[in-house]
Amino acid sequence: MTAVAVDVDVLTDLDFQPTLPCELRSHDQLDAGNLPAAWRAFGWCPGCHHRVDFLLCEPGRLRKQSSMSGCELCGHTHWWADAFTVVPI
Ligand SMILES: [Zn+2]
Ligand SMILES: [Zn+2]
Repeated sequence: MTAVAVDVDVLTDLDFQPTLPCELRSHDQLDAGNLPAAWRAFGWCPGCHHRVDFLLCEPGRLRKQSSMSGCELCGHTHWWADAFTVVPI
């Protein structure tokens, strides 16, 4: 039954997930556990409409979602959760 062996190989391949790093600049200092990225965040600065798109870990998401964020281009400050959408990767 070689077909069974092939099916197992396919399932093994699907289970494999490459590890993507968290892209928050403060990840090393503030995110517990040095976990890989689990979420993708994207959105636009409400002040200058600068597009932001990056990967972040679960501790990073929890930290950002309840905090204010400042735009590095125009200095506009806003609630992070209001400006960005988070989807699992
Ligand atoms: Zn992180
Ligand atoms: Zn801005």
